[in-house]
Amino acid sequence: MFDKHACLVYDGFMAIKKYRKKPVVIEAKQWHKAGDHSEVGYYRTPAMDGQIVCGKCRTYRMHDHGWIDTLEGGHIVCPGDWIIKGIQGEYYPCKPDIFEVTYGPGRVTRV
Ligand SMILES: [Zn+2]
Repeated sequence: MFDKHACLVYDGFMAIKKYRKKPVVIEAKQWHKAGDHSEVGYYRTPAMDGQIVCGKCRTYRMHDHGWIDTLEGGHIVCPGDWIIKGIQGEYYPCKPDIFEVTYGPGRVTRV
């Protein structure tokens, strides 16, 4: 059965409507160390030993990490994470492997 108005794909009795994400252009900068990005501060907490290795990246000591406040709360930034400026001007971190498969180069503008 074909619904020419809704372009629905029928799978048995269930209609599964498909959507494609609209292409958006974002600004991003990769963070490696303190001072690389104005939105990333130091990650320091007295409750955690800065010499222990991060449980997320399993590579760098906690003292080598940053901290960013996002709309969904604060996040630890691992060296190599990308800091993305979203379409509403908000900032959030993105792991490098996810960034690589999700984003491609856009037009370069002077800042
Ligand atoms: Zn880490």
